Amino acid sequence: MTWQAGRGRLREIRAQCREGVRHLRLRRCVGAYVDGELPPARRAELTAHLVRCWTCSGHAETLRLIKHSLGNGPVRAPSALTEARLRRYAVRLGADSTDR
Ligand SMILES: [Zn+2]
Repeated sequence: MTWQAGRGRLREIRAQCREGVRHLRLRRCVGAYVDGELPPARRAELTAHLVRCWTCSGHAETLRLIKHSLGNGPVRAPSALTEARLRRYAVRLGADSTDR
């Protein structure tokens, strides 16, 4: 390896380290990013990072999907109705066990 090639490789390794450190710092902000809670400068930095980072962009997409499904999911049964169903099921189970 020539001196210039070694220097180029060193630059490449430094760039990878900087990107790794940036990833570790920014991955904690992905939730706030998805929630729209980041200040503009941090938001712009994270937007640029998401273009390059498969892990963080996947995490952001997963959070968006979860948020979307929770916001638009099926209407859940009221807890009183759920409780009544569980009690009826428990009574039915008890009746089945005494029949044997
Ligand atoms: Zn990342």
